Amino acid sequence: MSQNPWDDDNEATASESTLVIEREKIKPQETKNAKSDPTVRATIKANASPTPEQLTAAQNKEALEDTLRKFSNKLGEILVSINPTLTEEQVEHAVSQSNEKSTSEMIGEILLKKKLVTEDELVKALSMQSGIPMTKKLDDAEIDLELTNKIPISFAKKHLILPYEKVGSSVLVAISDPNDISVIDDLRILLQSNIKPTLSKKNDIMNAIHRAYEPTAAQGDPELHQNLMNDLDSQDLTSVDLNETQDLLDSDDEAPIIRLVNTLLFRAIKEKASDIHIEPAEKDITVRFRIDGILYEIMRPPKRAQASITSRVKIMAGIDIAEKRIPQDGRIKTRLGGKNVDIRVSTLPTSYGERLVLRILDTASVVLNLEDLGFDDQQLSLIKKITQLSHGIFLVTGPTGSGKTSTLYACLTSINTPDLNIITVENPVEIQLAGLGQIQVDEKVGLTFAEGLRSILRQDPDVIMVGEIRDKETAEIAIQASLTGHFVFSTIHTNDAASSITRLVDMGVEPFLISSSLVAAMAQRLVRRLCPSCKEAYMPTPQELKELNITPEKLKGRTIYRPKGCPACAKTGYKGRMAIYEIMPVDDTIRSMILKNTDAGTIKKAAASSGLATLREDGTKKILSGFTSIEEVLRATQEDTLVA
Ligand SMILES: [Zn+2]
Repeated sequence: MSQNPWDDDNEATASESTLVIEREKIKPQETKNAKSDPTVRATIKANASPTPEQLTAAQNKEALEDTLRKFSNKLGEILVSINPTLTEEQVEHAVSQSNEKSTSEMIGEILLKKKLVTEDELVKALSMQSGIPMTKKLDDAEIDLELTNKIPISFAKKHLILPYEKVGSSVLVAISDPNDISVIDDLRILLQSNIKPTLSKKNDIMNAIHRAYEPTAAQGDPELHQNLMNDLDSQDLTSVDLNETQDLLDSDDEAPIIRLVNTLLFRAIKEKASDIHIEPAEKDITVRFRIDGILYEIMRPPKRAQASITSRVKIMAGIDIAEKRIPQDGRIKTRLGGKNVDIRVSTLPTSYGERLVLRILDTASVVLNLEDLGFDDQQLSLIKKITQLSHGIFLVTGPTGSGKTSTLYACLTSINTPDLNIITVENPVEIQLAGLGQIQVDEKVGLTFAEGLRSILRQDPDVIMVGEIRDKETAEIAIQASLTGHFVFSTIHTNDAASSITRLVDMGVEPFLISSSLVAAMAQRLVRRLCPSCKEAYMPTPQELKELNITPEKLKGRTIYRPKGCPACAKTGYKGRMAIYEIMPVDDTIRSMILKNTDAGTIKKAAASSGLATLREDGTKKILSGFTSIEEVLRATQEDTLVA
């Protein structure tokens, strides 16, 4: 076929129109489309008056199939000519497999699925067959956002099309299915232009759609922000259907509240916030994001929007919206740009209404490699040694948001092999790890950590991870498990490694059980990383140096940096975070101290004398390596009273 289907006049060449008719007979639902301009459809139909033969063919199912088969074969022929390893028999087989519903696209899909052709070859063949040229480039820079603004993302995704460039009075549109003529009609109406389709791989189009639509959902765009606020002021907030949950990018023109909440979620995820706080005050609502551990105010919606925002979030999270007097929690599972995002929501009644905290579990940003967690070589080899043990308990301690879960996930990932049965009980399951059995705590139905742990033990595990030990019952089951040939990972809420021992004793666990099961305890904190674009070398005061025990010898040949602020780091001076660690293996000395019920401070001193680097000392190393600042380490290790 040599006609150029870009040309409107060529739209209904005899062979193509035959195809249109046949497709309509077979799949009427695909060509029905309310948006289609009736005049356009009429033009196609008029130009496509079928010959008597064609009519007969259309009425005769077998002949119709035959026609389609020939058409499909033609694609097959082209593919055989492009790909020397593809045989005619393989094509025949695919044709017979695709059966009566066969379109050329399906033949291609079958061959693709069997890996007999590549997607590139298929696109090339479809292009040769249809005469539609291949898309040259679909880079960010090439996509005209003015065009994408006119097409809802849901439409683009459904049909896998993306308009990307204006050429004269025409618009170039990347498509993946040359047979989908009706979508071209719809595009002509939506864009008010001639449409020149170009062929692209499906994945390329999908990726380009995500890239093209993300910025318009506004990343802190002041204009959009203002529009949202204006919406809130001008519209009736009560008569809104708050029930839809879908891809955040798909909602284009929803009610203002839905738009506001979606935009908040979108922005939070884009800006890598870990939490969104929605706090009602007397006169308005404060919305804050926690980014790299620090809270920033984002907006102040009016008081009158409070009920709707709260309801919308609660509906999304599956929380009872009528219940406003007790704390509740739920979970939002949403999608952003095709990526799954989990958000844990908790509500807390206050005198000004319900306070909401949304914790974003951005699974993509979690580091699962021990090597990438920021351990130095010595720490890394110690951790690896610990995680290779066949039994015992390893405790990771630190406050909420200190990265304990990431550490445990990375530990589990490092030992995750098919010959080990690894089971976890968590609250919540933050990331699904392939090859692990993960149980989520659900206290409403009585599935507590202790209960989950009991059921795990009936599943013959080798390695167990308990999300948190916070009561005697859980502690004792975990210890029993570790004494009977299992390795147990868990976390506990204490300031330093040594205190985890006294915490267990405080819970009522017998010291001899702890001394015989605990193999190591590790404390950790997250500190912000200095922005590499703007960090500034300086000479700290003697007082600062003293506080961190940085002697002139330690400082020799090193540079200490402080935050400055630049556009790359939103003027904060910091970008991203890293962990600092204190790893305390339990040796004979410590074991006997545990048995004697020694206090945490004394245990820590003993550990330090045998080489323990405290949180603050590890932080100091990271200051001297230029990763973080003195103020960050001091902030994160306030409780870390010096051993000496
Ligand atoms: Zn910067």
